[in-house]
Amino acid sequence: MTDAVVVGSGPNGLAGAVTLAEHGLTVTVLEAAEEIGGGARSGESTLPGLLHDHCSAVHPFGVASPLLRSPDLARHGLEWAWPEVDLAHPLDGGEAAAAVRSVRDTARALGADADAWLRVFARPGEHFDALAEDVLRPLLRFPRHPLLLADFGRRAALPATLLARTWRTARARALFAGAAAHAFRPLDRPLTSAVGLLLLAAAHHRGWPVARGGSGRITAALAARLTELGGRIETGHPVRALADLPPCRIALLDVAPGAAADLCGDRLPPRVRRAYRRWRYGPAAFRMDFAVQGGVPWRHPDCRRAGTVHLGGTLEEVAHAERQTARGRLPARPFVLVAQQYLADPGRSRGDVHPVYAYAHVPHGYDGDASWAVLAQIERFAPGFRERVLATTTLPTRHLPRHNPNLVGGDISTGANTARQTVLRPRAALDPYATGIPGVHLCSAATPPGAGVHGLCGIHAARSALRHAGIPVTG
Ligand SMILES: Cc1cc2nc3c(=O)[nH]c(=O)nc-3n(C[C@H](O)[C@H](O)[C@H](O)COP(=O)(O)OP(=O)(O)OC[C@H]3O[C@@H](n4cnc5c(N)ncnc54)[C@H](O)[C@@H]3O)c2cc1C
Repeated sequence: MTDAVVVGSGPNGLAGAVTLAEHGLTVTVLEAAEEIGGGARSGESTLPGLLHDHCSAVHPFGVASPLLRSPDLARHGLEWAWPEVDLAHPLDGGEAAAAVRSVRDTARALGADADAWLRVFARPGEHFDALAEDVLRPLLRFPRHPLLLADFGRRAALPATLLARTWRTARARALFAGAAAHAFRPLDRPLTSAVGLLLLAAAHHRGWPVARGGSGRITAALAARLTELGGRIETGHPVRALADLPPCRIALLDVAPGAAADLCGDRLPPRVRRAYRRWRYGPAAFRMDFAVQGGVPWRHPDCRRAGTVHLGGTLEEVAHAERQTARGRLPARPFVLVAQQYLADPGRSRGDVHPVYAYAHVPHGYDGDASWAVLAQIERFAPGFRERVLATTTLPTRHLPRHNPNLVGGDISTGANTARQTVLRPRAALDPYATGIPGVHLCSAATPPGAGVHGLCGIHAARSALRHAGIPVTG
């Protein structure tokens, strides 16, 4: 007999399981894959001895999450490691913009835009934890820090292309555009500033670190904490229907809304089933790993020191690429993210051969080969890259959902970040985690606060489930 069952061992499933176990419940996690971790896993990919992250790479929201930075997880081997430069964004002609932890140093390097950068980012960067209390949770709640939230919200509501007019230089605008592109949305849509603002505010607070030893250490630490609290994890155990679960008081589902509708079948109230079926998925990722002799030969020195490099050129180019992608066309120059985790965590390399991670934004369900576009974008800012590549592994978009059913059509955010779905995820409800079936809660990245390795969807869902079960919630 188990008190609670969690379907799926992604960061949200495991964080939810730990939260339930910390409240004294016996918890069993059932994972479809042979390996735990969902979107936070690592291993060899190109050459023996090189450590690559399979999905998540860099963790601005992870290090901001109270659970993921707690001593309990540090005891189980989770350690954050920072590159010298958090984020770099090169432009044609050899220029680049960079974000570092210090908002003042970042601003100073932006020259004519120094004051404007400080105006936008100094306050949310300094008070990031307070801001996170209001925005990294369901938004239909009374704010704890109304003035801070109002100041953030008036900018977050804007299309990124509009907010970018705050800055005059191509460098500052591009730096913001690259961060906003993490929303996988055309940048001229309302609320597309929100993701860019939050990611850069996080950069100016605790930075964009990687997990030492690979992103898999995050979920391994969560799993170890769960085991320590008496929980169990079964891998190779896909759950196809709610009826297949062992008897339990609480079930947390770390699955996409469409999959939740399938799992729950007729037990789901019709209005909830309709909402889950209406849930829309967004553009996708096309992943590549490289083993690179001597590292990427970036033209700009900041890119050589950066954990994350955004490739897409100017704000206008990034906006064009994101628009094309959303319309279902692969642009000639898609937005590409390159991560160089080894700069913060040298143990991932073998001598002078380094693991380099990349993905391009591609249309939802993209079925082609975008590797030429990824290579062309890297070569554009790092001529001679191809000659340094010793081995390449490509993970085409259509393979992503085979590894993890939550990545519908290759959408790594478990849902499109439309204005509606940003605010009302996965449906309009005061408790967005409740499915309407007593004891059954949704806890995947389709719930607030959304995508990213932070475990907060799982924690909030678990707390909601505990309250429904009449168990006092602590902490
Ligand atoms: C390529 C890629 C790059 C990313 N980069 C970053 C990054 O750099 N930083 C960042 O913060 N985030 C990143 N993300 C996003 C982040 O990984 C996800 O938002 C996060 O993992 C979501 O966690 P989750 O627990 O909701 O779901 P997932 O991590 O997707 O885990 C869901 C788990 O549930 C299992 N499951 C699903 N259905 C069933 C079932 N019926 N029965 C049993 N098990 C089931 C799956 O196998 C999977 O293990 C990236 C994601 C991808 C794919």
